[in-house]
Amino acid sequence: MNSITKRWLRGSMALTVLILVLAESLFLYAGRSSYYAAVRQALLNRFSSISGQLKMYGGSTVAASADNRYLALHRMVEQFDEKDKIEFMLLDSEGQVLTTSSGSLTSAADQEEDFWKALDSPSGQGESIYVTDENEKVMAVTILSPYPAGDVTALRMVTSLTLVDEALAQRAWVSLGAVLVVLGFSVCSGLYFIRSIVNPLQQVERTANQIARGDLSVRLPQSGRKDEIGRLCETINRMAEELSKTEKMKNEFISSVSHELRTPLTSIRGWVETIASIRDPQDENYQKGLAIIGAETDRLYGMVEELLDFSRLQAGIRLECQPLDLVAELTDAALFVEPRIRQEGMRLAYEEPELPLPVWADPKRLRQIFLNILDNAVKYSSPGGVITLELLQDGENVYILFRDEGRGISPEDLENVKLKFFKGKNAVRGSGIGLAVADEIVTALNGSLDIESRLGEGTTVKVMLPLYRPGGPGKL
Ligand code: ADP
Repeated sequence: MNSITKRWLRGSMALTVLILVLAESLFLYAGRSSYYAAVRQALLNRFSSISGQLKMYGGSTVAASADNRYLALHRMVEQFDEKDKIEFMLLDSEGQVLTTSSGSLTSAADQEEDFWKALDSPSGQGESIYVTDENEKVMAVTILSPYPAGDVTALRMVTSLTLVDEALAQRAWVSLGAVLVVLGFSVCSGLYFIRSIVNPLQQVERTANQIARGDLSVRLPQSGRKDEIGRLCETINRMAEELSKTEKMKNEFISSVSHELRTPLTSIRGWVETIASIRDPQDENYQKGLAIIGAETDRLYGMVEELLDFSRLQAGIRLECQPLDLVAELTDAALFVEPRIRQEGMRLAYEEPELPLPVWADPKRLRQIFLNILDNAVKYSSPGGVITLELLQDGENVYILFRDEGRGISPEDLENVKLKFFKGKNAVRGSGIGLAVADEIVTALNGSLDIESRLGEGTTVKVMLPLYRPGGPGKL
């Protein structure tokens, strides 16, 4: 049995059973007390009517009245009209039966506990419940005679409790039946409820295990439930979806990186073989080969750097920030890429602002962002294109605009270009992590990176960074 059901049985059900048993016991106890109290009251009522009658018997002297009452009592016993239900007796000062409505004098001889109780009690009344020699449960009530009446010290009535006990037993059976019905109902409804939780959870567990074993195609069926279980299923499905997307991107990434690595490696191997066959280092091809090997090695180096960036991105970017002049940093990057831009037959338009623009940033990372964006601008532009760099200040922020007149990005790709490993339909080469890294770093610097683009017209990447204010939050 699974543990939620066990826990429910142990906790909730055990408590329900306990409460029901307690309630049943209380109910039976209260029933017995009230039935017996009613019997006692019935006997006491008879005593009080007998007392009422006795009061009327008197005489000229005390002794005469006692005699009269004695006789009257004897008559009352003899003529007692409820003989079949109640035995009425008169007792002497020793508790011995003087006379009884049943005619036999044996019945109360050794069962006179109620008589002694009556003698001891200030109210002059005693009661006992016992089982007779005939194995019958009876209730006996004794009251001391309210008036002197010869030898009669006490009046006693005994009645059978058999009928009362039968009624009580019937009541017990009915209530026990009700308890069992309640118990059965709570077990059934509880089990139904537990099943409605446990069954889908078992399914979730099976599916999660399959996912853990690497089967990312499994999905939980849509239950349409809007509760916690329904939401859990949706989350598991979403998780599997995301995992398979990541898995797909990872595979694409590996294959694109291997492809990218193979191209320069092939070229290097080819040129190494060519050079090996040339004896003269002054040979034109020898020199050309060396230059190509050098360039391809740089390309490989760049790719390895990108891969390292990727693993750093996974581990979370660590920044070593300091106050910097953004203008100087951007100019530096512009000077670095300008030869390449010119070599590709394009032009870099950049007017260096005169005043410095201080920002709080990590210089290496800032340069990396600039170079990533500029590299894309060059990659996706054609000869004759202009790449424009612009620096603007607006209130508390500075904006760096990188504008190109290249092929642009399609609207459906635009929303994904900042994702890791995403390569647009227009992609020429690269692993698809340049903009993801740039975006991550800019966000870590409390800035933002936005891209606007139109297919065939060009792309503008806008980097926003907060201006550095000495003494500002978290700063020097
Ligand atoms: P990579 O490192 O491979 O260049 P990026 O993350 O820098 O990847 O860019 C992701 C995708 O965004 C590219 O594959 C390309 O499709 C698109 N892209 C980025 N910059 C430009 C741009 N200036 N012009 C056109 N497309 C671009």
